Amino acid sequence: MSHETVYAIASGKGGVGKTTTTVNLGTVLAQAGERVAIVDTDLGMANLAGFVSLTPDATTLHDVLAGDASIDDATYRLADNIVAVPSGTDLDEYAKTSPEGLRTVVEELRSTYDFVFLDVGAGVSHETVLPLGLADSVVVVSTPEPAAVQDSQKTVELTARAGGEIAGLVVTRTHPNSDISYDEIAGQLEIPLLGTIPEDPTSRESVCAGTPLVVYDPQSSASGAYRRLASDLSGIDIQTPSDDDSGADDDEESASEPEPQATADEREAGHDDVSSAITEAESNN
Ligand code: ADP
Ligand code: MG
Repeated sequence: MSHETVYAIASGKGGVGKTTTTVNLGTVLAQAGERVAIVDTDLGMANLAGFVSLTPDATTLHDVLAGDASIDDATYRLADNIVAVPSGTDLDEYAKTSPEGLRTVVEELRSTYDFVFLDVGAGVSHETVLPLGLADSVVVVSTPEPAAVQDSQKTVELTARAGGEIAGLVVTRTHPNSDISYDEIAGQLEIPLLGTIPEDPTSRESVCAGTPLVVYDPQSSASGAYRRLASDLSGIDIQTPSDDDSGADDDEESASEPEPQATADEREAGHDDVSSAITEAESNN
């Protein structure tokens, strides 16, 4: 394999931009025609739920890890080329889950998709550490705040303990006029700096809209930064969409305007769409 395909998006401190990074990196690569799965391995929280609009009894990763459902049943289509495996919010169900099953889930997804992104919970619990070792590479996410940087050190240490590899650091919510050196922050952690994502007010708006930022506002500074990061990580050339031309004519398979959310009715169809999209993509290779 020429490039890493399973990334864990991790942080020591919560609320630093892991889910935002997972969703936007995944969407950028899907727009470029790669088949992408994003997985909510932060089992106690519902990070991806806002993008999937689940009904209360919908099948989630909890059911898969409890041995009650297959991974296909918990896979929801977000847009062309991209699916999400959300985690449930039910704490009783959570108690029944066996994080060990995540290994099988990751291997299954790895064999089906070009890229898999694991949205990892903050902290030091078993469910947090496990994905760090299952991924090919760990992207550490931190804001420039000293407390977040300090907690990133724990993620670096936990990754080593889990037998994982660090890809590097993404500093989120940076300010252009700040005199902080992000290279120095990465240097302190002794890991490479992969990129910086500027503070961007549309980021929060896009979450409320249940739409990835790179779709909600492709021209925003943070969207540009996520495209660069996706390109640097994957080695894939990512086009910048222009204002007057949505890019729809350069690749009809790409999701230039993915639908923001799957409705309950679309979801059933979604499973078929994904399988047929994948079959189609495979037969094109
Ligand atoms: P985590 O998954 O690490 O808990 P989130 O991705 O959910 O973090 O982000 C936490 C909050 O920060 C969200 O409200 C999100 O919209 C906001 N946020 C993330 N990235 C940015 C950014 N570049 N600029 C402004 N707000 C951001
Ligand atoms: Mg999150």
